Amino acid sequence: MSEIAITLPDGSVRRVPAGSTPVDVAAGISPRLAKAAIAAVVDGRPVDLTFPLNADARVEILTDRGPDALHVYRHSAAHLLAAAVTNLFPGTQCGIGPATDEGFYYDFIVERPFVPEDLEAIEKKMRDLAAQDLIYERQIWPRQEAIDFFTSRGEPLKVQLIQEKTQGQTGVSVYTIKDRDTFVDFCVGPHVPSTGRLKGFKLLNTSNAYWKGDAKNQPMQRVYGTAFFSDKELQAHLQRIEEAKKRDHRKVGKELGLFTFHHWAPGSAFWLGKGTTLYNTLANYMRGVLFPAGYQEVKAPIIFNRALWETSGHWDHYRENMFLVTSSDNEEMGLKAMNCPGHFLIFASESRSYKDLPLRLHEQTPLHRNEASGVLSGLTRVRQFSQDDAHCFVMESQIAAEVERLLRLVQRVYGDFGLQYTVKLSTRPENFLGEVATWDHAEASLKQALEASKQPYTINAGDGAFYGPKLDFDITDAIGRSWQCATIQLDYQMPERFDLKYVGADNAEHRPVVIHRAILGSFERFIAILIEHYAGAFPLWLAPVQAVVMPIADRHAEYAAQVRQRLEAAGLRAELDARQEKINYKIREAQLQKIPYMLVAGDREVADGTVAVRSRSGGDQGARSVDDFVRDAQLEISAKGEPAAGLAAAS
Ligand SMILES: [Zn+2]
Ligand SMILES: [Zn+2]
Repeated sequence: MSEIAITLPDGSVRRVPAGSTPVDVAAGISPRLAKAAIAAVVDGRPVDLTFPLNADARVEILTDRGPDALHVYRHSAAHLLAAAVTNLFPGTQCGIGPATDEGFYYDFIVERPFVPEDLEAIEKKMRDLAAQDLIYERQIWPRQEAIDFFTSRGEPLKVQLIQEKTQGQTGVSVYTIKDRDTFVDFCVGPHVPSTGRLKGFKLLNTSNAYWKGDAKNQPMQRVYGTAFFSDKELQAHLQRIEEAKKRDHRKVGKELGLFTFHHWAPGSAFWLGKGTTLYNTLANYMRGVLFPAGYQEVKAPIIFNRALWETSGHWDHYRENMFLVTSSDNEEMGLKAMNCPGHFLIFASESRSYKDLPLRLHEQTPLHRNEASGVLSGLTRVRQFSQDDAHCFVMESQIAAEVERLLRLVQRVYGDFGLQYTVKLSTRPENFLGEVATWDHAEASLKQALEASKQPYTINAGDGAFYGPKLDFDITDAIGRSWQCATIQLDYQMPERFDLKYVGADNAEHRPVVIHRAILGSFERFIAILIEHYAGAFPLWLAPVQAVVMPIADRHAEYAAQVRQRLEAAGLRAELDARQEKINYKIREAQLQKIPYMLVAGDREVADGTVAVRSRSGGDQGARSVDDFVRDAQLEISAKGEPAAGLAAAS
C-alpha cells in the first residue's frame, strides 16, 4: 500500500498509509489526542475526522481548545437541534443553522410559533439523541437525487439552497445523524464525530426571522442555543447572560431615571436630570485630564458645505451615513459625523511652525450618523452622540513620543474607572495608500511607544485603516465582556487631502501627521458600558446623587435641610427626602436608586449635630459629624476608582 506524508503544525512529518483519516493520524500521535479530537484542518480546510487522506497534506487536529473547534462543536449542536425539531414536529421545514460567536441557531418554518414548553421538549429530545451517541455521517449524493429527496420531503428551502450552492457539481454533500430517517441535512460540514460528543448545550430563546433575512420572504422561527465543551463553561456563560440582563443599561437607565427615548427622535437620547449630571461629570472629567496634557478644547460647526465632505472623501464613501440638509440659499450641507475635517480647517486657518507642534485639538460637540432605525439599540448604537475626540498634529519625528504620552493617558483614564484593557496593533492592510517605507516607519514608531511604556500588545496583521496603522483598546467589564473603546490612529492621507503644512526648522514646508484619538469614545456608549460594568452602582465620584438626607419625622426636616445645604456647599451632590414615609421605606428606595450614602437625622442627631450614616455597600456606619462625613466623602471622590461588583459578588 502506498504511503503519504503528513506534516503536522510543529513541522514534523509522519508517514501513513494512503486513505488514512485525521483520527488515524491523531491515534498515531497519542490515544488521548484521538479521544479529544473534534475535527481537523487539512491543507487549511476544516474537515471531519473521517476525511480520507489520499495525498501528502498538512494536517492539524482540532481538540476542545480554540475557537475553530468550538465553531464545529456549536454547528454540530445546531444539527442536533434540527434533528430534535423535525422528530418532534413532523412537517417542519429547515432553513439554515450556523454557529455564532455566542452559540448557534437554526431557522424553521413551523405551523405555529414555538412556546417555552416546546423549547424544553426540544432540548430534552436533543439530550436523548446525544445520549444515544449517534454518528454524524457525511454522504455524497448525486445532485439530482438530493434535489428529488428534499422535494419529496417537502423541504423547498433546502432544494433552493442546493440549486443555488451546487451549480455545476455532480455530487452534493449531506450529513445524516444516525440515518436519513432520523435526520439528514444538506451541509458541507465538518461536524463532531458523533452526538455523544456534545455535552454542554442549552436552548435559550426564539425569535422571528425571515428566510435569508429578508422581510419580503416567509416568516420563520429562529431557535437560539449555546454550547460549550464543558458543562462548567456553559454554566458560567448562562450566569453571565443572566447577569447581563440584570445590568442591561436600557433597563437600569430607566430605573435610575438617567435617560429616555421618543420615537420621534430615534437613536437620540433625552438625557434627564441625573443622566445629564452623569454625562457632564464624564465630559468635565475628560476636560480635566486633557487640559493639563496640552489639549485645547475647540468647537467647530456642526453643519458643513458638501465641499468639505468632498475634500475629506466622505461625500463619495460615507454620504449614506450622513444627514444631509439644504440651506435657505440652496447649498447642499451635511451634519458632521466626525470632528476631523473641522479640526483640519482649524489647523489650516493660520500658518503653523514646527514650534507649534504637537498641536492638540479636543472637541465634544454632538455628532450625527444616519443609522438605519432597525440597528439602533439603547445608547450603544445611536444617531446622535458626542466623543472625547481629539486630533494631534505632529511632525513625523514626534509620533513615538506622542503615542507614548497617549498610552499613559489611556492607562490613567481606565485606571480611574477600574477597567482592565488589552491593546492591539493593526498593521498595513492590502489596500493601503502611500509608501511602504512610510508605513514601516509609522508601525515602528507605534511599537517603540508600546515598548517604552511597557504596554503588552498583540498584532492584528493587515487590519490597519487604509490611511495608517492604529492601536485599538479593548476594555473588560465586571462580568468579563470585552468592549472596544479607545483608538489611536495614525493618518498620512488627510493632511494631503487638506493640504496641511507647517514650516520646519529648515524653513521649508512639511506635512504634519495627524493622530486621531479617543479614549472613552462616544460618551453615550461609554455610559452604557459603565452602567453595565457597575450595575448602576456608580462609585461616589460618578454617582449623579451622592448622598440623600432623610429626616425620621417632620420635626427633623429643618435640620435635615440644613445638612443638605452644607453638603451642597461642600460640592457634594445631595438630595433631601422629606416625604412623610417610614424611614425604612426611604432607605429601601435610596438603596434601589443605588445612592452611595444615606444620612438619617432623628432626635439624637439633631441634638448632637450629627448624621447617622448608611452606605450603599456597607450598611450602617454609625453617627458622624457632618464635617467628618464631608471630609471622608471628598477623599473618596478624589480617590475615584472603586472596583465594580463582578459575577461572584453580584450573584
Ligand atoms: Zn452542518
Ligand atoms: Zn478623527
